[in-house]
Amino acid sequence: MKGIVVISGKLTDKWLKLCGVVGQSHLGFLILIRQSYRGNLSLLNHEKIHCAQARELGILFFYLIYGAEYLVNLCRFRDHKAAYLQISIEMEAYLHDTDYKYLKNRKHFSMWRRN
Ligand SMILES: [Zn+2]
Repeated sequence: MKGIVVISGKLTDKWLKLCGVVGQSHLGFLILIRQSYRGNLSLLNHEKIHCAQARELGILFFYLIYGAEYLVNLCRFRDHKAAYLQISIEMEAYLHDTDYKYLKNRKHFSMWRRN
């Protein structure tokens, strides 16, 4: 399973806008995309990569690692955007979100691999 895609409704769309995000993945299978980003394939692929990571790490460790890396990066860079972009989970997703075959050949724990 690569994820169940849900285009957000009015309420969730407002929530996503308020959070400043265009899409989110949850629990390793649910993908929520803002209405105005419907059909954005790289965004969809980005969230599918997060689903694969969450299933691999386990939901709890996925969120723990994500949060811990963000906090460490925030202390390091003192900037939300820089801290977010330097999370290893995000780095892998951004690096491969336009490679639509990436998930077929993805190696385990690729968020921490250098090649
Ligand atoms: Zn992401």
